[in-house]
Amino acid sequence: MIAGIEFGGTKTVAAMGHRNGGLIEEFRYPTTHPQGTLAVAIEWIRQRGIPEALGVAAFGPIILADHGDDYGGMLATPKPGWEGFSLSASLRAAFPGSRLVIETDVNAAALAESHSGAARGLADVAYITIGTGIGAGILSGGRLVHGALHPEVGHFKVPVFPGDDFAGVCSFHGNCLEGLASGPAIAARWGVEASALPPGHKAWEVQAWYLAHGVLALAAIVAPSRVVIGGGVSQADGLHQRVETIFRKLSGGYFPHAEGTDYIMPPALGQQAGICGALLVVAAN
Ligand code: ADP
Ligand code: ZN
Repeated sequence: MIAGIEFGGTKTVAAMGHRNGGLIEEFRYPTTHPQGTLAVAIEWIRQRGIPEALGVAAFGPIILADHGDDYGGMLATPKPGWEGFSLSASLRAAFPGSRLVIETDVNAAALAESHSGAARGLADVAYITIGTGIGAGILSGGRLVHGALHPEVGHFKVPVFPGDDFAGVCSFHGNCLEGLASGPAIAARWGVEASALPPGHKAWEVQAWYLAHGVLALAAIVAPSRVVIGGGVSQADGLHQRVETIFRKLSGGYFPHAEGTDYIMPPALGQQAGICGALLVVAAN
């Protein structure tokens, strides 16, 4: 038996389960300051036994490069109190005999969707989340991509939609993809929460156009055989279809791996992707 923890911006999930992602029991609670959030998960897991291994899926940016003292160290995050906090210090102290594996939330979701979701059985998968931020997890040849830190797909520059003079909301880059197309970007641009914008609103044409450029970059650089788009904003009616239509025009038929009508898909695991992914990362790393 192993344990998993998913740290999200608003909620945290602790679970007991198996290396194949199977859940035995889970517990969901709000994410607060880091010490308190960790303490709740640690106590909940301890009451159920000492796990052989502990898999973690966390928001970032986060240090994953080696398994040293800075493993799981939180970098510049706007979440109050989390910057500089080390996930590994608390978790290793609580479970000294358990193997600890930490992953990004989006890599864990990519793994889970590839294991039993919308990209089941595929070894080359990108999972993009569009919520408070934009990020992507990448599974390439069955391995999760880290690079020297981890990909930050939300922060690359995309061409500007014709006539768009919106400055963007990213505090680092202004109009990077996240600055133009995240939930807060939509709210700032149109003065309405994404969840309250009707399907016929012009916002969705602009939104799909930006996301299609994001998918185009992924198709060109890492060549996934499927792109799963999740996160709160992805629940907008018809968004995947709109993105696919624009992506088709942009790609000009050049990418044989991306020609299927099921290239861009919504996630199939919903709320379970993060915590199943947290269990699965143990065997994957
Ligand atoms: P987080 O990144 O904090 O986990 P979510 O993934 O839940 O957040 O995304 C939150 C964003 O999703 C908000 O901007 C919200 O307006 C938007 N959202 C939620 N539901 C919908 C919906 N049905 N259609 C479009 N946008 C939505
Ligand atoms: Zn940015």
